[in-house]
Amino acid sequence: MTDRIATPLRTRAIMETYGFNFKKGYGQNFLIDSNILDNIADAAGITEDDTVLEIGPGFGALTQVLAERAKKVIALEIDNKLIPILSETLADYKNIEIINQDVLKCDIEKLAEEKNEGKPFKIVANLPYYITTPIVMELLEKKNAVQSMTVMVQKEVAERMQAGPKNGDYGALSIAVQFYFDACINMIVQPSCFMPRPKVASAVITLTLRDEPAVEVCDKALYFKLVKCAFGQRRKTLLNTLCNQGGFGLLKEEMTAVINSAGLDEKIRGEAMSLEDFAKLTEKVYEKINS
Ligand code: SAM
Repeated sequence: MTDRIATPLRTRAIMETYGFNFKKGYGQNFLIDSNILDNIADAAGITEDDTVLEIGPGFGALTQVLAERAKKVIALEIDNKLIPILSETLADYKNIEIINQDVLKCDIEKLAEEKNEGKPFKIVANLPYYITTPIVMELLEKKNAVQSMTVMVQKEVAERMQAGPKNGDYGALSIAVQFYFDACINMIVQPSCFMPRPKVASAVITLTLRDEPAVEVCDKALYFKLVKCAFGQRRKTLLNTLCNQGGFGLLKEEMTAVINSAGLDEKIRGEAMSLEDFAKLTEKVYEKINS
């Protein structure tokens, strides 16, 4: 095993050698605690059969730990200043491929075709916080390319992904995640484990693709439109928000009847509705607007 990159001493030495300064704009908070890295790799269940896709390798702290366990690691890094650094810090590993690219501009399904015989990746990352939600939302739709995601995010975002109904953190993100994936927070990580220290605590969450979506829906676009609408104005009742914002073209009495026929009280709020409740509502709204 080569010396760990994730120590305060080594991180400072790399910065000095290469004259590297952290870029806030790229969400560069690097891990300096190697125990956390082992825990992330454990949580991701990486084995020698896996091809891992890492987002944002930084100096290669997590990449190194993943490469010691996986068959192959592909890592996408936006910051071109890090590419020559990575080629030195990870020089001992022959199973790592670094690609200088913005993850949001990368066709992950094509990457799985090219680099993993079309099989889905296990994604592992200490995500840049400024674009956590866009990255996760993008990957949620790439079911052919994603087997699981084990990612470090702000604690508050992890709680929103895992929350269920009647919890203040529950919202459109919880449903988007839980529709296709099982969500499980593995650990909370304190700011002192990073350089520079972020202002808030972080958490590692694992999202594992379900065999089937959590609920069966007749019209997925309508389902997510209803979810977006119900959480768009959290304080309003479902009836009011669907009538005022939804653009479904139904009178209040008609919408009340539709909501009731889904087995729901029209005064219910989105935050009390389960994924199943939204599926029943979708079915009834679909029937009504297509009748
Ligand atoms: N993995 C390293 C670690 O744990 O020490 C660094 C993690 S740091 C939180 C986030 C990394 O993502 C940085 O290296 C940053 O340059 C990179 N990054 C930021 N935006 C990105 C993007 N759109 N695509 C790919 N990498 C990105």
